[in-house]
Amino acid sequence: SSQIRLAAYPVGEPGDDAYESVTVELPELEEGQVLLRTIYLSLDPYMRSRMSTAKSYAAPVAIGDVMVGATVSEVVESRAPERAVGDVVLADAGWQSYAVVDGRRTRRIDPAAAPVSTALGVLGMPGFTAYAGMRVIGRPKPGETVVVAAATGPVGSAVGQIAKIDGARAVGIAGGAEKRRVLLEQLGFDAAVDHRSSTFVDDLAEATPDGIDVYFENVGGHVTEAVLDRLNRFARVPVCGLAAWYNATSVPEGPDRFPGFMRRILTKSLTVRGFIQDEFAPTHHAPFFEDMPRWLREGKIRYQEDVVEGLENAPAALRGLLNGAFTGKLLIQVGDL
Ligand code: NDP
Repeated sequence: SSQIRLAAYPVGEPGDDAYESVTVELPELEEGQVLLRTIYLSLDPYMRSRMSTAKSYAAPVAIGDVMVGATVSEVVESRAPERAVGDVVLADAGWQSYAVVDGRRTRRIDPAAAPVSTALGVLGMPGFTAYAGMRVIGRPKPGETVVVAAATGPVGSAVGQIAKIDGARAVGIAGGAEKRRVLLEQLGFDAAVDHRSSTFVDDLAEATPDGIDVYFENVGGHVTEAVLDRLNRFARVPVCGLAAWYNATSVPEGPDRFPGFMRRILTKSLTVRGFIQDEFAPTHHAPFFEDMPRWLREGKIRYQEDVVEGLENAPAALRGLLNGAFTGKLLIQVGDL
């Protein structure tokens, strides 16, 4: 089996020297285990925080361990009663071509219901993140304005389309003209703003004439600064991610903006609430797995995918992910189904 392991905790953007590629013999299966062949490996922004010893909600990957990651895999050998050879499953197999895991730590996917890759995107963790963040914290009312950045990505694209389903106006922020076009023409956003444009702040004002009622926070940085000035009274801010800062090595330069931020929370009666999607699994997995597949079938939710061939290209792809090089859900194709 080919594996990519963490070789060192990177400072700033993780270069190739943060990783080590190795080939290993596969161990014999123990009772209850399955041998999985990786079809798709999901690359997600949280992986950068696992490559760091800074305190976070999840433990870091240890030096020498296989990089973590969710996969769609095929069962090629089974000593687990609940899994048969040929089953396609969702697993946490990590950055490797084969993996031995406990059969109970896999979930079966029905390849007839939807393309199997969607288990890592719109019908998986990122889609659920959007759904739970909107249902629990964002809660848009009809006619309200919802703004989300990283809007073409798997979380942002679902946020905007759920806003539309709820009768709200969806405004997407993304980097570049091509992503703007995707938001307007493929994903059904009402307005799209390019955060790399020199007229970004004015463009955002024009796209949100009635202010902003829900800001679904995916990025931080200059986008959040521009958004803060346009939040309405009683606006909700689900704080989901801060992708702009994942490779940061120091606090940004400039004046201390904390007092202004706190003053806005107070005077506009804002609700700013962070969340990790897991915490809503007990209450919201069931409705998510009802609603999302139905919306997909009804064409109310669409999704974009970027598939990169070959496990060896995962390090470069993870760099690209945080730099905005990809439009949709980023997947590494490791094997064929
Ligand atoms: P994406 O595929 O959308 O990738 C991240 C995107 O962030 C890039 O494509 C880029 O888009 C954008 N970006 C990066 N830097 C900046 C910047 N400085 N300013 C503005 N945009 C920037 O990721 P996901 O959809 O998978 O995840 C979205 C967010 O949700 C992430 O922050 C992630 O960590 C978080 N998340 C949180 C979870 C939770 O439980 N709290 C669970 C899952 C995801 P562009 O080119 O448009 O700028």
